[in-house]
Amino acid sequence: MSRFTGRVAVVTGAAQGIGAATALRLAEEGAAVAVVDLTAERAQATVDAITQKGGTAKAYGADVSDLDAVEAAFAAVVEDFGALHILVNNAGITRDNLFFKMPRADWDLVLTVNLTSAFNCAQAAQKYMVRQKYGKIVSLSSRSALGNRGQANYAAAKAGIQGLTATLAIELGPYNINVNAVAPGYIATAMTAATAERVGATAEEHQRLAAERTPLRRVGRPEEVASVVAFLASEDASYVSGQTLYINGGAR
Ligand code: NAP
Repeated sequence: MSRFTGRVAVVTGAAQGIGAATALRLAEEGAAVAVVDLTAERAQATVDAITQKGGTAKAYGADVSDLDAVEAAFAAVVEDFGALHILVNNAGITRDNLFFKMPRADWDLVLTVNLTSAFNCAQAAQKYMVRQKYGKIVSLSSRSALGNRGQANYAAAKAGIQGLTATLAIELGPYNINVNAVAPGYIATAMTAATAERVGATAEEHQRLAAERTPLRRVGRPEEVASVVAFLASEDASYVSGQTLYINGGAR
Protein backbone atom coordinates (compact mmCIF):
# COMPACT_ATOMS: atom_id res chain seq x y z
CA MET A 1 0.00 0.00 0.00
CA SER A 2 1.27 3.49 -0.74
CA ARG A 3 -1.60 5.86 0.02
CA PHE A 4 0.83 8.49 1.31
CA THR A 5 3.59 8.50 -1.28
CA GLY A 6 4.83 12.08 -1.65
CA ARG A 7 3.02 13.21 1.52
CA VAL A 8 4.64 14.74 4.59
CA ALA A 9 3.03 13.92 7.93
CA VAL A 10 3.57 15.35 11.40
CA VAL A 11 2.61 13.13 14.34
CA THR A 12 2.82 14.69 17.81
CA GLY A 13 3.54 12.69 20.96
CA ALA A 14 4.94 9.99 18.70
CA ALA A 15 7.74 8.62 20.91
CA GLN A 16 5.47 5.79 22.09
CA GLY A 17 1.96 4.36 22.15
CA ILE A 18 -0.69 5.42 19.64
CA GLY A 19 1.50 8.20 18.21
CA ALA A 20 4.39 5.82 17.49
CA ALA A 21 2.03 3.27 15.89
CA THR A 22 0.51 6.02 13.75
CA ALA A 23 3.91 7.34 12.66
CA LEU A 24 4.92 3.79 11.69
CA ARG A 25 1.68 3.17 9.78
CA LEU A 26 1.87 6.42 7.80
CA ALA A 27 5.53 5.75 6.97
CA GLU A 28 4.78 2.16 5.92
CA GLU A 29 2.30 3.60 3.45
CA GLY A 30 4.85 5.99 1.98
CA ALA A 31 4.69 9.23 4.00
CA ALA A 32 7.79 11.08 5.17
CA VAL A 33 7.03 11.40 8.88
CA ALA A 34 8.06 14.12 11.31
CA VAL A 35 8.10 12.36 14.67
CA VAL A 36 7.45 15.04 17.29
CA ASP A 37 7.75 14.54 21.03
CA LEU A 38 8.94 16.59 24.01
CA THR A 39 12.54 15.97 22.99
CA ALA A 40 14.05 14.76 19.72
CA GLU A 41 15.95 12.15 21.74
CA ARG A 42 12.65 10.62 22.95
CA ALA A 43 11.32 10.60 19.37
CA GLN A 44 14.40 8.92 17.91
CA ALA A 45 13.34 5.33 18.74
CA THR A 46 10.27 5.72 16.52
CA VAL A 47 12.41 7.22 13.76
CA ASP A 48 14.78 4.25 14.03
CA ALA A 49 11.87 1.79 13.81
CA ILE A 50 10.65 3.54 10.65
CA THR A 51 14.01 3.78 8.94
CA GLN A 52 14.83 0.13 9.77
CA LYS A 53 11.76 -0.78 7.70
CA GLY A 54 12.96 1.40 4.81
CA GLY A 55 10.75 4.41 5.62
CA THR A 56 11.57 8.11 5.89
CA ALA A 57 11.35 9.96 9.19
CA LYS A 58 13.04 12.57 11.33
CA ALA A 59 12.79 13.40 15.03
CA TYR A 60 11.79 16.84 16.29
CA GLY A 61 11.61 18.06 19.87
CA ALA A 62 8.76 20.40 20.76
CA ASP A 63 6.42 20.91 23.68
CA VAL A 64 3.19 21.20 21.69
CA SER A 65 1.62 23.37 24.38
CA ASP A 66 4.13 26.09 23.40
CA LEU A 67 3.00 27.82 20.18
CA ASP A 68 6.45 29.27 19.43
CA ALA A 69 8.05 25.82 19.75
CA VAL A 70 5.38 24.32 17.48
CA GLU A 71 5.85 27.01 14.82
CA ALA A 72 9.62 26.53 14.89
CA ALA A 73 9.30 22.72 14.63
CA PHE A 74 6.82 22.88 11.75
CA ALA A 75 9.00 25.41 9.89
CA ALA A 76 11.89 22.95 10.28
CA VAL A 77 9.70 20.12 8.93
CA VAL A 78 8.82 22.16 5.84
CA GLU A 79 12.47 23.14 5.43
CA ASP A 80 13.51 19.46 5.66
CA PHE A 81 10.73 17.82 3.63
CA GLY A 82 9.32 20.65 1.49
CA ALA A 83 5.69 20.57 2.68
CA LEU A 84 3.29 19.61 5.48
CA HIS A 85 0.25 17.66 4.27
CA ILE A 86 -0.95 15.66 7.29
CA LEU A 87 -1.14 16.64 10.97
CA VAL A 88 -1.98 14.11 13.66
CA ASN A 89 -2.66 15.83 17.00
CA ASN A 90 -1.86 12.92 19.26
CA ALA A 91 0.15 14.28 22.23
CA GLY A 92 -1.84 13.97 25.41
CA ILE A 93 -1.65 13.44 29.16
CA THR A 94 -3.92 12.52 32.05
CA ARG A 95 -3.97 13.84 35.63
CA ASP A 96 -6.96 11.95 37.03
CA ASN A 97 -8.67 12.89 40.26
CA LEU A 98 -12.19 13.14 41.58
CA PHE A 99 -13.53 16.59 40.79
CA PHE A 100 -13.91 17.79 44.40
CA LYS A 101 -10.18 17.33 44.99
CA MET A 102 -8.83 18.06 41.52
CA PRO A 103 -6.10 20.71 41.80
CA ARG A 104 -6.69 23.70 39.55
CA ALA A 105 -3.13 23.20 38.21
CA ASP A 106 -4.09 19.73 36.92
CA TRP A 107 -7.18 21.15 35.22
CA ASP A 108 -5.03 23.77 33.48
CA LEU A 109 -2.28 21.33 32.51
CA VAL A 110 -4.61 18.73 31.00
CA LEU A 111 -6.61 21.36 29.08
CA THR A 112 -3.38 22.90 27.81
CA VAL A 113 -1.62 19.73 26.70
CA ASN A 114 -4.67 17.96 25.25
CA LEU A 115 -6.68 20.85 23.79
CA THR A 116 -4.62 24.04 23.46
CA SER A 117 -1.83 22.01 21.85
CA ALA A 118 -4.27 20.92 19.12
CA PHE A 119 -5.13 24.60 18.57
CA ASN A 120 -1.40 25.43 18.39
CA CYS A 121 -0.54 22.66 15.94
CA ALA A 122 -3.60 23.15 13.74
CA GLN A 123 -2.98 26.89 13.57
CA ALA A 124 0.69 26.42 12.70
CA ALA A 125 -0.10 23.70 10.11
CA GLN A 126 -3.02 25.43 8.37
CA LYS A 127 -0.68 28.17 7.11
CA TYR A 128 1.05 25.60 4.90
CA MET A 129 -2.10 23.64 4.14
CA VAL A 130 -4.16 26.64 3.01
CA ARG A 131 -1.32 27.81 0.76
CA GLN A 132 -1.07 24.41 -0.95
CA LYS A 133 -4.86 23.90 -0.92
CA TYR A 134 -4.45 20.45 0.62
CA GLY A 135 -4.43 19.16 4.15
CA LYS A 136 -5.58 16.45 6.54
CA ILE A 137 -5.87 17.06 10.27
CA VAL A 138 -6.74 14.18 12.58
CA SER A 139 -6.90 14.75 16.34
CA LEU A 140 -7.12 12.34 19.25
CA SER A 141 -10.30 12.76 21.24
CA SER A 142 -11.39 9.96 23.59
CA ARG A 143 -14.42 7.99 24.66
CA SER A 144 -13.94 9.89 27.91
CA ALA A 145 -15.39 12.94 26.13
CA LEU A 146 -18.78 11.41 26.98
CA GLY A 147 -17.90 11.58 30.69
CA ASN A 148 -15.64 9.46 32.87
CA ARG A 149 -15.34 9.36 36.66
CA GLY A 150 -12.09 10.99 37.80
CA GLN A 151 -11.44 12.65 34.46
CA ALA A 152 -13.31 16.00 34.52
CA ASN A 153 -10.23 17.72 33.07
CA TYR A 154 -9.46 15.08 30.43
CA ALA A 155 -13.13 14.62 29.43
CA ALA A 156 -13.55 18.38 28.99
CA ALA A 157 -10.38 18.59 26.88
CA LYS A 158 -11.34 15.63 24.70
CA ALA A 159 -14.89 16.99 24.22
CA GLY A 160 -13.22 20.26 23.27
CA ILE A 161 -11.28 18.41 20.56
CA GLN A 162 -14.60 17.37 19.03
CA GLY A 163 -15.88 20.96 18.94
CA LEU A 164 -12.59 22.23 17.57
CA THR A 165 -12.68 19.53 14.89
CA ALA A 166 -16.24 20.33 13.80
CA THR A 167 -15.43 24.05 13.58
CA LEU A 168 -12.09 23.70 11.77
CA ALA A 169 -13.82 21.44 9.24
CA ILE A 170 -16.19 24.33 8.46
CA GLU A 171 -13.49 27.02 8.30
CA LEU A 172 -10.77 25.05 6.51
CA GLY A 173 -12.98 22.95 4.20
CA PRO A 174 -12.98 25.61 1.45
CA TYR A 175 -9.19 25.13 1.25
CA ASN A 176 -9.50 21.37 0.64
CA ILE A 177 -8.53 20.53 4.20
CA ASN A 178 -10.28 17.62 5.91
CA VAL A 179 -10.48 17.80 9.70
CA ASN A 180 -11.54 14.80 11.75
CA ALA A 181 -11.05 13.20 15.15
CA VAL A 182 -10.91 9.70 16.55
CA ALA A 183 -12.18 8.79 19.99
CA PRO A 184 -10.55 5.59 21.24
CA GLY A 185 -11.83 3.56 24.15
CA TYR A 186 -9.36 1.55 26.22
CA ILE A 187 -6.10 1.10 24.31
CA ALA A 188 -3.21 -0.75 25.98
CA THR A 189 -0.42 1.85 26.24
CA ALA A 190 1.78 3.47 28.89
CA MET A 191 -1.11 5.89 29.55
CA THR A 192 -3.55 3.15 30.55
CA ALA A 193 -0.80 1.29 32.44
CA ALA A 194 -0.28 4.45 34.49
CA THR A 195 -4.02 4.61 35.18
CA ALA A 196 -3.91 0.99 36.38
CA GLU A 197 -1.05 1.80 38.71
CA ARG A 198 -2.92 4.81 40.09
CA VAL A 199 -5.89 2.62 41.09
CA GLY A 200 -3.62 -0.08 42.53
CA ALA A 201 -4.10 -2.69 39.79
CA THR A 202 -1.65 -4.40 37.48
CA ALA A 203 -1.89 -3.45 33.80
CA GLU A 204 -3.18 -6.98 33.04
CA GLU A 205 -5.92 -6.88 35.69
CA HIS A 206 -7.02 -3.40 34.62
CA GLN A 207 -7.18 -4.52 30.98
CA ARG A 208 -9.16 -7.64 31.91
CA LEU A 209 -11.80 -5.51 33.68
CA ALA A 210 -11.99 -3.11 30.71
CA ALA A 211 -12.31 -6.07 28.33
CA GLU A 212 -15.23 -7.50 30.34
CA ARG A 213 -17.33 -4.36 29.76
CA THR A 214 -16.41 -4.12 26.05
CA PRO A 215 -18.62 -5.94 23.51
CA LEU A 216 -15.57 -7.24 21.61
CA ARG A 217 -14.33 -8.59 24.99
CA ARG A 218 -10.83 -7.20 24.68
CA VAL A 219 -9.00 -3.88 24.89
CA GLY A 220 -7.61 -2.15 21.80
CA ARG A 221 -4.08 -2.02 20.41
CA PRO A 222 -2.33 1.19 19.27
CA GLU A 223 -2.18 -0.22 15.72
CA GLU A 224 -5.99 -0.42 15.69
CA VAL A 225 -6.17 3.34 16.25
CA ALA A 226 -3.33 4.01 13.79
CA SER A 227 -5.18 2.27 10.96
CA VAL A 228 -8.26 4.47 11.47
CA VAL A 229 -6.15 7.63 11.68
CA ALA A 230 -4.49 6.55 8.43
CA PHE A 231 -7.90 6.06 6.81
CA LEU A 232 -9.00 9.57 7.83
CA ALA A 233 -5.68 11.03 6.60
CA SER A 234 -6.04 9.29 3.25
CA GLU A 235 -8.01 9.88 0.08
CA ASP A 236 -10.18 6.91 1.10
CA ALA A 237 -11.86 9.43 3.42
CA SER A 238 -11.77 12.35 0.96
CA TYR A 239 -15.41 13.37 1.60
CA VAL A 240 -15.31 12.82 5.37
CA SER A 241 -14.79 15.98 7.44
CA GLY A 242 -15.88 17.34 10.81
CA GLN A 243 -16.44 13.84 12.20
CA THR A 244 -15.39 12.06 15.36
CA LEU A 245 -15.07 8.32 14.89
CA TYR A 246 -15.24 6.16 18.03
CA ILE A 247 -12.80 3.23 18.19
CA ASN A 248 -13.97 1.37 21.24
CA GLY A 249 -14.81 -2.24 20.51
CA GLY A 250 -18.54 -1.52 20.38
CA ALA A 251 -18.92 0.03 23.84
CA ARG A 252 -21.88 2.43 24.21
P1 NAP B 1 1.21 7.85 25.83
O1 NAP B 1 1.69 6.45 25.67
O2 NAP B 1 1.30 8.49 27.17
O3 NAP B 1 1.96 8.76 24.74
C1 NAP B 1 1.76 10.14 24.68
C2 NAP B 1 3.02 10.79 24.16
O4 NAP B 1 2.80 12.22 24.12
C3 NAP B 1 4.25 10.55 25.07
O5 NAP B 1 5.37 10.22 24.29
C4 NAP B 1 4.40 11.90 25.76
O6 NAP B 1 5.72 12.16 26.15
C5 NAP B 1 3.97 12.84 24.65
N1 NAP B 1 3.67 14.17 25.17
C6 NAP B 1 3.05 14.48 26.33
N2 NAP B 1 2.98 15.80 26.49
C7 NAP B 1 3.55 16.35 25.39
C8 NAP B 1 3.81 17.68 24.98
N3 NAP B 1 3.41 18.73 25.73
N4 NAP B 1 4.44 17.90 23.81
C9 NAP B 1 4.85 16.85 23.05
N5 NAP B 1 4.63 15.57 23.38
C10 NAP B 1 4.01 15.32 24.56
O7 NAP B 1 -0.31 7.98 25.40
P2 NAP B 1 -1.23 7.10 24.39
O8 NAP B 1 -2.02 6.18 25.22
O9 NAP B 1 -0.44 6.61 23.24
O10 NAP B 1 -2.23 8.26 23.91
C11 NAP B 1 -2.04 9.02 22.74
C12 NAP B 1 -3.25 9.92 22.54
O11 NAP B 1 -4.43 9.13 22.49
C13 NAP B 1 -3.47 10.92 23.68
O12 NAP B 1 -3.97 12.14 23.16
C14 NAP B 1 -4.52 10.24 24.52
O13 NAP B 1 -5.24 11.15 25.29
C15 NAP B 1 -5.35 9.59 23.44
N6 NAP B 1 -6.15 8.46 23.92
C16 NAP B 1 -5.56 7.36 24.49
C17 NAP B 1 -6.37 6.31 24.92
C18 NAP B 1 -5.78 5.07 25.56
O14 NAP B 1 -6.58 4.24 26.06
N7 NAP B 1 -4.49 4.88 25.58
C19 NAP B 1 -7.76 6.37 24.78
C20 NAP B 1 -8.32 7.50 24.20
C21 NAP B 1 -7.50 8.55 23.76
P3 NAP B 1 6.16 11.78 27.68
O15 NAP B 1 5.95 10.30 27.83
O16 NAP B 1 7.60 12.20 27.74
O17 NAP B 1 5.25 12.58 28.57
